[in-house]
Amino acid sequence: MKDKVPRQSMPEQPPAQRVRNYKEVPLGYSDETARLEASRCLQCKRPTCVDGCPVRVDIPGFIKAIRDGDFLSSIHLIKTTNSLPAVCGRVCPQEEQCEKLCVLTKKGESVAIGKLERFAADYEREREQLEIRAAAEMKEGRVAIVGSGPAGLTAAGELAKMGYRVTVFEAFHNAGGVLVYGIPEFRLPKAIVQYEIDALAKLGVEIVLNRVVGSAGTVNDLLSEGFDAVFIGTGAGLPLFLDIPGENLQGVYSANEYLTRANLMKAYKFPEYDTPIARGDSIAVVGGGNVAMDSARMALRLGSKKVHLIYRRSRAEMPARVEEVHHAEEEGVLFQLLTNPVRFIGDEQGRLKAVECVRMELGEPDDSGRRRPVVVKGSEFTIDIDVAIVAIGNGPNPLIPRTTPGLAVSKWGNIVADDESMKTSRKGVFAGGDIVTGAATVILAMGAGRKAAMAINTYLQTGEW
Ligand SMILES: Cc1cc2nc3c(=O)[nH]c(=O)nc-3n(C[C@H](O)[C@H](O)[C@H](O)COP(=O)(O)OP(=O)(O)OC[C@H]3O[C@@H](n4cnc5c(N)ncnc54)[C@H](O)[C@@H]3O)c2cc1C
Ligand code: SF4
Repeated sequence: MKDKVPRQSMPEQPPAQRVRNYKEVPLGYSDETARLEASRCLQCKRPTCVDGCPVRVDIPGFIKAIRDGDFLSSIHLIKTTNSLPAVCGRVCPQEEQCEKLCVLTKKGESVAIGKLERFAADYEREREQLEIRAAAEMKEGRVAIVGSGPAGLTAAGELAKMGYRVTVFEAFHNAGGVLVYGIPEFRLPKAIVQYEIDALAKLGVEIVLNRVVGSAGTVNDLLSEGFDAVFIGTGAGLPLFLDIPGENLQGVYSANEYLTRANLMKAYKFPEYDTPIARGDSIAVVGGGNVAMDSARMALRLGSKKVHLIYRRSRAEMPARVEEVHHAEEEGVLFQLLTNPVRFIGDEQGRLKAVECVRMELGEPDDSGRRRPVVVKGSEFTIDIDVAIVAIGNGPNPLIPRTTPGLAVSKWGNIVADDESMKTSRKGVFAGGDIVTGAATVILAMGAGRKAAMAINTYLQTGEW
């Protein structure tokens, strides 16, 4: 009977309204809708949904608590394994994880696990009923965390709860990593990330901003300054480029720079903040992932009239979350699928004025298992643009590997760490998140932070490496 209740949709700001503001697009469930959605869960004895969750949240447990109206118990259950539920409820690719494995998908639509997670986290935050579970007693040992993204924040939180003295070093002037400098306000409000960071501070975690480890002090320095272990969670922040003619023209941005100016440097708060950022009339964003979708939707909000999204494969292969592709389409992003840029064209002053593209078709599958795009001969055409944003991926920043002797890296420059303990080749040094895996997801970075915290605890207690 339970699956007769349809999946409850979450109300959203209408597209025409939301492209003129930066407020969140989905508006959240009411108490009643959340309970109704929770009532769809079959409370399976063998909950397959949990197998799809990288941090193994007790999904039937927290959903049952919502169904029973016990919203605070619900959030406390989630938080036993997931320290950033308000973030994960908004940005995790649930359709590829827990929801994909929910038994209801066989007969229809899965339980909206992500939306329920968001509801529980928001309920707690909006009522300021945050429970701080500080350690009963302090332990010997100081831990340095490098990078304040989801990997670093999770490791810091877990270690602080165990009673260690933890210091987080962050290169930027704000903590949060991609959660604040990459993902825009309309998908993840900054106040929510800040709330989680404040909770860490209440646990006793010290956060040192504007400190680039590797240039102002190295990992070795941290170890000799009295830290007993170091966790490196520096992410994948080095933009990749297309390597085509004209990429140095004025008006060609990496998505990193564009989104950092828009988010971290608060161009979205104009005129309160007068951050220099290109507000082109006609923009091309190159790529098909979440970063490309965020850039395109941000460009619309910053006032661009035409935003083209150029992607060399078809829509089915787009790595971005389905919901975000849908939102971008609704907002008027013009999808140029099976299309690839071959050169940027400038005017006499060296300013971008157009992009030349070719059409593509899909051939045999490549190493990634996706069908390889092949150029359609003679299909060249140009699109007039004044700004281009390249969002085709990121690599690891080489600063820490270069300044940390004996730290093994892969051929792509990622730090090599053990899958379970997150130990690196250097005694006392652990690493996790995008710096190890390459650009991945928030929840995987958090999972790595959690595993590292457990292993750091064992190392500090036993001294064994
Ligand atoms: C625009 C965008 C949208 C995304 N959307 C999604 C999404 O919808 N869902 C999803 O699951 N994932 C998404 N991702 C991916 C996700 O955000 C990352 O996988 C995740 O943030 C990685 O976490 P991390 O902690 O490893 O690194 P990061 O979040 O990159 O944090 C690393 C931090 O380390 C700091 N740092 C770097 N070097 C140093 C140094 N030498 N010293 C001190 N600090 C340093 C950086 O400034 C940064 O703050 C998105 C990524 C981007 C860029
Ligand atoms: S698999 Fe779906 S129905 Fe079963 S417990 Fe998980 S969320 Fe509920």
